[in-house]
Amino acid sequence: MERIAIFPGSFDPFTIGHDSVVRRALPLFDKIIIGIGVNAEKRPLFPVEKRIEFIHSLYKDEPRIQVLSYDTLTIAFAKKVKANFILRGLRSVRDFEYERDIADLNKQSTGIETILLFTEHQYGCISSSAIRELISYGEDVTQYLPKPQTK
Ligand code: ADP
Repeated sequence: MERIAIFPGSFDPFTIGHDSVVRRALPLFDKIIIGIGVNAEKRPLFPVEKRIEFIHSLYKDEPRIQVLSYDTLTIAFAKKVKANFILRGLRSVRDFEYERDIADLNKQSTGIETILLFTEHQYGCISSSAIRELISYGEDVTQYLPKPQTK
């Protein structure tokens, strides 16, 4: 059985914390599909096309990592791409409570297992929302964004 995971999120923007989760999870799966959830009610800072382009540029040399967007329930997206795992990252007890409820619900309704990786401690305080706030005050956030690999 091929082990296919989706890594769902808003990724507005995709941070070094997200990148760390993806790279550390890669040995566990045959394929990781980064799924950008698009919610018509929310206005993102970065258009979905820009987010796809940026994430794609990060992993262009790693064929086992793909990026797609979706505007359905996460489990519907997982089924569509034939994923058997959902990958998520855990920073805090706040993340824990939230992730546990969704993971339980998803497991009960579809049998899909959620695999959680703890954050690497140096990334524990990094969130897309904090980065958006820094950007809104004109701060330079490049240190929190992954750099495309140059070979
Ligand atoms: P969502 O809106 O679904 O929470 P995010 O884009 O904020 O989407 O996050 C996607 C996933 O990445 C979530 O599981 C989140 O907990 C995890 N994540 C976000 N930031 C970090 C970080 N700094 N370290 C580890 N995991 C993280």
